[in-house]
Amino acid sequence: MQSFVSKEDGIFPSVCSLDCPDQCGLLVHKKAGKIIKIEGDPDHPVTQGAICNKVRHMTERLYDSKRLTTPLKRVGAKGEGKFAPISWEDAIEIIVSNWKKLIENEGPESILPYSFYGNMGNINAEGMDRRFFHRLGASQLDRTICQTAGSVGYRYTMGGAYGTDPEETTETKLFIFWGINAVSTNMHQMMLAQKARKNGAKIIVIDVHNNQTGKMADWFIPIIPGTDSALALGMMHILFKEKLVNEPFMKEYTVGYQQLEEHVKQYDPETVSAITGVPVDDIYKLARMYGATSPSLIRIGNGLQHHDNGGMIVRTISCLPAVTGAWLEKGGGALKSNSGFLSYNSVALQRPDLLKNKLGCLT
Ligand code: SF4
Repeated sequence: MQSFVSKEDGIFPSVCSLDCPDQCGLLVHKKAGKIIKIEGDPDHPVTQGAICNKVRHMTERLYDSKRLTTPLKRVGAKGEGKFAPISWEDAIEIIVSNWKKLIENEGPESILPYSFYGNMGNINAEGMDRRFFHRLGASQLDRTICQTAGSVGYRYTMGGAYGTDPEETTETKLFIFWGINAVSTNMHQMMLAQKARKNGAKIIVIDVHNNQTGKMADWFIPIIPGTDSALALGMMHILFKEKLVNEPFMKEYTVGYQQLEEHVKQYDPETVSAITGVPVDDIYKLARMYGATSPSLIRIGNGLQHHDNGGMIVRTISCLPAVTGAWLEKGGGALKSNSGFLSYNSVALQRPDLLKNKLGCLT
């Protein structure tokens, strides 16, 4: 295999390629063609030189002797864990001949591509593989695997992946980290929250276990897994009942709020407590804090959507800032993903038109 690694030595600005919302600026140090150190880029306007330990120690991972360097072929029974190294040429030959047989006997839709991010950007994760499988005529899978339910739920309420600008959240007075261990997975949002905290903001964490983020919160609220929409409905029950809603905002910018008010009447705090495990007094306290504090921000995590009602959980939580009109204030609202602001022409990248010439059509 040809090596595409530059042998040039020096310190190179780069950006972290892991699937993480922070996308830290990096400085990569190279010597004798090897990466010897990775550190944060202090000149990056947002991440300012702070990076996580995963990437700080990436050189150890890159050059670890246990790292796979060739394809492996199973040589024992399935599950036995016996593999032998083979060349890339042999691996490609095995795959091609097996796939040819499958396509000939069963058609190209007998192949299902199944993937998500990891260490890849748009070209690798959502580009060239899609083109390849479109051309092949493989089955389609609605990807991403772990993200789509929540994204669709958020879109039902918000119209797209648009949330609060993280840099504005230093103005926020009440942070609710809901189903996200931000200390580990969104560290720069946590740094902004700490700045806001110095200006008097409170931090609430709602999660199924008391993780690092929960431990540093002003208030950690444990909840039974998968019951988050019930808590959001219970909060709205109190907000409507105690007139902590922003009716002019709802009238101007939302649809269906009167039906929502009717719907949440059944979610009184006692009923919600029995579903969620959150004590009645805490449901009142949370709803009142949320209704009375402005600006407030809900950072919606990804763990929430990994339930059979995951899309609905995210959809319901994202109604809360519309009910209080939190969107009106700088630093207020909700944030799940801001990918809508960075959208690109995915059709041009993924080329679904290649399906027209799928291999099944040619045989
Ligand atoms: S926090 Fe870590 S994984 Fe995330 S972008 Fe920064 S260096 Fe990469």
